[in-house]
Amino acid sequence: MTEHYDLLILGGGSGGIATANRAARHGARCVLIEKGPLGGACVNVGCVPKKLFWNAAHMYQCAQTARDYGFTPLLGDFDWAAHKHARDAYIARLNSRYGAGLADNGVTVIAGHGRFVDPRTVEVAGSRYQADHIVVATGSRPVVPDVPGAALGLTSDGFFALGARPRKVAVVGAGYIAVELASVLRQLGSEVSLVMRGAHLLATFDPMLREGLTDAMTTAGIDLLPQRRVTGISDTDGALNLLYEGGEALGGLDTVLWAVGRAPNTDALGLDKAGITPGAGGIIEADSFQNTAVPGIYAIGDLTGRAALTPVAIAAGRRLADRLFGGQPDRRLDYDLIPTVVFSHPPIGSVGLTEPEARERHGRDAVKVYRTRFAPMSQAFSKEPHRTAMKLVTVGREERVVGLHIIGEAADEMLQGFAVAIKMGATKKHLDDTLAIHPTSAEELVTMR
Ligand code: NDP
Repeated sequence: MTEHYDLLILGGGSGGIATANRAARHGARCVLIEKGPLGGACVNVGCVPKKLFWNAAHMYQCAQTARDYGFTPLLGDFDWAAHKHARDAYIARLNSRYGAGLADNGVTVIAGHGRFVDPRTVEVAGSRYQADHIVVATGSRPVVPDVPGAALGLTSDGFFALGARPRKVAVVGAGYIAVELASVLRQLGSEVSLVMRGAHLLATFDPMLREGLTDAMTTAGIDLLPQRRVTGISDTDGALNLLYEGGEALGGLDTVLWAVGRAPNTDALGLDKAGITPGAGGIIEADSFQNTAVPGIYAIGDLTGRAALTPVAIAAGRRLADRLFGGQPDRRLDYDLIPTVVFSHPPIGSVGLTEPEARERHGRDAVKVYRTRFAPMSQAFSKEPHRTAMKLVTVGREERVVGLHIIGEAADEMLQGFAVAIKMGATKKHLDDTLAIHPTSAEELVTMR
């Protein structure tokens, strides 16, 4: 017998779960299908374990600063296995909390792999489920390049499963995951090389952020290797060699970490049976209301190929549920001005246009930029203080803030409130008219000249 629901969600990651819970609270009968642990990449092999690692690395940095403040050395070595044990237990608690939340809202959860049979029906292990509306939210997975020996390397999934600290690591890539994991590994004591195919890390970010992070990573002892095209990995008696175009190699590695992007999980969903033709790289194209080309089928999150960030998937899913079941026909996500943080060391916070983007879009002379660079007060006693850099990108006579970029201590926590102001249309004068909170780093954002 085929069971019938108002809403079927393929994928129990952040986006799928948020959609299901919101729709169920609006009174929809929902079924959610997930083959892995609840919470998807973010909870299990992404944001959550990454931030726990980042916290550990941050504590190490604080302990170094504490010495300058008069403390005797605070920390011994980092116990990777103990950290993993605590991390796994924390994630297991989150998995069950997600299950409990869905159960409280009356969402039926089916464990298994779902595949379309037709545009209204999905099959899981021989059972069929029909729904008036189907949301595809199956997320993405790390890409492994198609080069000889690639399987000798790990992806971020494998990184989080490591039971011990790698000694000598090459991280390949220059995006979010590459810089985050390279930073963490270095702070926790590994020897790290960051191997980039281009000239810069974080190629899409404001140049000030790129330069600041390049300096900080170099100072931290990370070997930045730009313009290296990786052609494969070989194994010499258990030691890995990363091979580059031109015959060069980086040898003596115990770990190679691929961080070269993520691909949508759309290849085994029977999309042809639903009438959906995947776009470039396997993405499912969705309009600004998350509609796919097939009425009644929607796509949210990483697999849409737009802003692959957890809060984006959650917000898109909740708004879709409000639209379908909450009597809010115009509800949709505005994809403009999405704040983002890179959990590097130091962290980066960024929202809106980079300086080059603003000049390109609004014209050179319409853009006025404010910047500052300083050592935060926490570094007052340090001989080699970490620096913070900030940039405001404004446009027009009213100096509307169209971009805000921060690299430095607490950038991650500073950004959220300023993102609200910018979303509301803040101008430089609004920032100037806001009283500073002293002494903080954030006050620099309202006192720039
Ligand atoms: P990104 O898209 O951020 O970066 C991919 C990187 O891989 C780029 O530097 C790219 O280089 C490089 N690259 C691609 N192909 C190759 C190749 N064959 N050889 C060498 N380098 C290559 O992807 P990530 O995997 O880092 O992260 C995926 C997404 O997950 C991010 O875009 C982000 O949306 C999300 N994410 C968000 C986080 C956060 O919010 N803090 C944390 C982690 C992930 P090039 O610059 O030359 O194109």
